[in-house]
Amino acid sequence: MILFLHPKATSPRSRRFPLSILALAAVLEGKEEYEIVDGNVDPCPGETLDGLMKKDPAKLLAVSVMPGPQMVAAVPLCRSFKEKYPGVPVVWGGYFPSLYPDAALNAPYVDFVARAQGEETLVELIEALRGGGDFSKIRGLSYKDPSGRHIHNPERPLRSPGDFPWPPYHRLDPSKYILPTFLGSRTAAHQASIGCPFRCNFCGVVPVFSHEKMEPPERTAAVLRHLKAAYGVNAVQFYDNNFFLREDHARELAGRLAALELRWWCEARVDTVLGYSDETLRALKRAGSTMIFFGAESGSDWVLRQMNKQLKAEQTLALAERIRHFGIIPEFSFVVGNPQDPERDTRECVRFIRKIKKINPAAEIIVQHYVPTPQRDGMYGGVEGRIEFPTTAEEWATERWYNFTVRKDPRVPWLPRGIKRRIDDFELVVSSRWPTVQDIRLPRWGRTLLRSLSSWRYHLGVYRFPLELDWAHKFVELRKPKVESL
Ligand code: SF4
Repeated sequence: MILFLHPKATSPRSRRFPLSILALAAVLEGKEEYEIVDGNVDPCPGETLDGLMKKDPAKLLAVSVMPGPQMVAAVPLCRSFKEKYPGVPVVWGGYFPSLYPDAALNAPYVDFVARAQGEETLVELIEALRGGGDFSKIRGLSYKDPSGRHIHNPERPLRSPGDFPWPPYHRLDPSKYILPTFLGSRTAAHQASIGCPFRCNFCGVVPVFSHEKMEPPERTAAVLRHLKAAYGVNAVQFYDNNFFLREDHARELAGRLAALELRWWCEARVDTVLGYSDETLRALKRAGSTMIFFGAESGSDWVLRQMNKQLKAEQTLALAERIRHFGIIPEFSFVVGNPQDPERDTRECVRFIRKIKKINPAAEIIVQHYVPTPQRDGMYGGVEGRIEFPTTAEEWATERWYNFTVRKDPRVPWLPRGIKRRIDDFELVVSSRWPTVQDIRLPRWGRTLLRSLSSWRYHLGVYRFPLELDWAHKFVELRKPKVESL
């Protein structure tokens, strides 16, 4: 028996299929006995693990660990599991251990780390555990040798999600995962590609995946057709880092999805979508494209250059204008707080966002503080030596580093408190002036209240000390797209 644990990562209303675990379960389906424990559904995952261990002791506990809330939830669960069942190996996979394999292995309750794409690594690890334990040939695996030294095996080549079996949705209760969003009354999640070929040096995807692999459009359409027929799905959130690359691929996908009449959200690059023809954009709209998240990152070319974003600010403005005509809402995300000149970066970013809102008032805006992730070729802003990442999972799970990870309060030496406050104040004013359409629970009076309290501020450019908006947000709990899912 293999146990999969998906520690709690989100609130019930943002719950989606645990795609990472389903992808791993898919390769064991029909070959191994396994159970999935999802902390997003199960209020007592530790007790459930105990119950399962009593029934049929597991050979391995495989845990999905994203940085942030899921990592914080994973620590006590795995610590307690290891105390009770010291003979059962524990493997962590996902972005947290892929980015920080040594911190993960420093935890006495983590025996292995499956870095990056974990499907084949997991299968080979199970075989090695059964066959006496030669882990040295398993690509993508990190582990401790008998002396406790950390061994990081070479990377595993990336494969298309289409090379692996379909997610075993039937092993979960779909009613817990297919929920209403602004896209539709029954929203599911799907990932049609993995990785990204770009090298933006602030992005956590870059150190984990060196390129991108897409599943064939016919498979994406077949999976979604199944979700629609079996579970009545009418909307989809695509979890891809980069949903669009080649235009012919996007066109084929659009052609196949159109008949399904789904509304969907995805992430893409500004320059990629800007380069598509009108015909392709119309086809995407017909296929159900409703909102696209774009990492605009900055409105300043000097910042974009430092980020290695391979994008010009004018392209973002051009896209904001053009996409309006196709009825697709752009959701632009910004990474603010350039380590060399955070004041200028913030000032220029505020000005740029105002320009976008003028061109396309429906554009959604997300403002994030820059927090670095380790990079092979140097971190954005040259912050090497200016920040020291925790070396243990416990420290990552503290409030200080949780707030860093979720960008709530990064407390980085290059961002003065006054500038951080300025960024937060501006974001509060913008999000109140245009409450996100993603919040389907926000009553009309709440929208009106936020708009009327903030419009004079936005109009006059007065963002400081928005105490009345802080107060209003205590009554009107607005959805925060940057920390919650749709
Ligand atoms: S920011 Fe976006 S485009 Fe850049 S590397 Fe990350 S996922 Fe790719």
